[in-house]
Amino acid sequence: MTAPAHPLAAALLAGERRALARAITLSESARPEHEVQAQALLAEVLPWAGRSLRLGLTGVPGVGKSTFIEALGLRLADAGHRVAVLAVDPSSARTGGSIMGDKTRMPGLAVHEGAFIRPSPSGGTLGGVARRTREAITLCEAAGYDVILVETVGVGQSETQVAAMTDLFVLLALPNAGDELQGVKRGIMELADLCVVNKADLDPRAAVRAQTQLRAALTLLTPHDAPWRPRALRASAVTGEGLDEVWAAAQDYAREMDLPRRRQAQAAVWFDELLREAAWKQFVAGTSPHRLTELRTSVQAGRLTAVQAVAALLAGQPS
Ligand code: GDP
Repeated sequence: MTAPAHPLAAALLAGERRALARAITLSESARPEHEVQAQALLAEVLPWAGRSLRLGLTGVPGVGKSTFIEALGLRLADAGHRVAVLAVDPSSARTGGSIMGDKTRMPGLAVHEGAFIRPSPSGGTLGGVARRTREAITLCEAAGYDVILVETVGVGQSETQVAAMTDLFVLLALPNAGDELQGVKRGIMELADLCVVNKADLDPRAAVRAQTQLRAALTLLTPHDAPWRPRALRASAVTGEGLDEVWAAAQDYAREMDLPRRRQAQAAVWFDELLREAAWKQFVAGTSPHRLTELRTSVQAGRLTAVQAVAALLAGQPS
């Protein structure tokens, strides 16, 4: 193997936190020359990436995500793991007044030498934010982080993106599961490999009821031949109760599931998505805006079907 060429690569691979932070900043930059450099760096360190367990974590604001990540992350870091916390929050990086992945929300983990916390890339489209976070995962893994926690807020499309970049997806719920189930979109429940009723310390009996309800809902949502039966657990991020069980379940999942295959499938979908986006951009850049508007108007007015309009555009015919 030849010596690393990018100036940041050696320090990054040696696990230097500052190099990692700078590499992520480089990958977040919108400047074209930075993008070229970032892609070169990513390609260079790629062979060292992939050796982690990637957990996605979601739940409505206030459910206790940052408290939970702090408590679980500290446990893992104290046990010798290197834990990276990333976030996907396209809502201008602010949700419910808190910044996703903000260090001040995880004060213990923020100063732990085995942990690295990076807030959500701000601004841009969900696709852009998700891409930056994917790249950050690669960079963290190359820097030796073996547990990657990706936080997202349980209200929209970002969950699908995070589930597509992680190995398992954890939904945090509140002990009042009846109300909670109404608040959580069915689509998010369908993504969950683990559901954890947090704040079980507040009302243990309600937490048991919630766990039972969640378990029933998960059973209904899971096809009979699914390779993994999603589990419902109880925990308290404040007392630490149940956190070991959550980690044990994550490890069961990692053992029982074919993670390399899941990642290969994710990579293929990701490639297709990027290709679709790039091909679309390239096509639109080479097409007269007037022509696009003309055809769109024809479709709106019912003069052409959408299929005819697209065919005309691709064939370069006048409408
Ligand atoms: P997030 O918005 O989902 O990140 O929620 P936070 O982690 O900021 O937590 C919201 C509030 O719930 C904070 O006041 C936490 O201290 C509290 N909290 C979080 N987890 C627990 C828990 O397990 N038990 C109790 N009693 N409070 C908790």
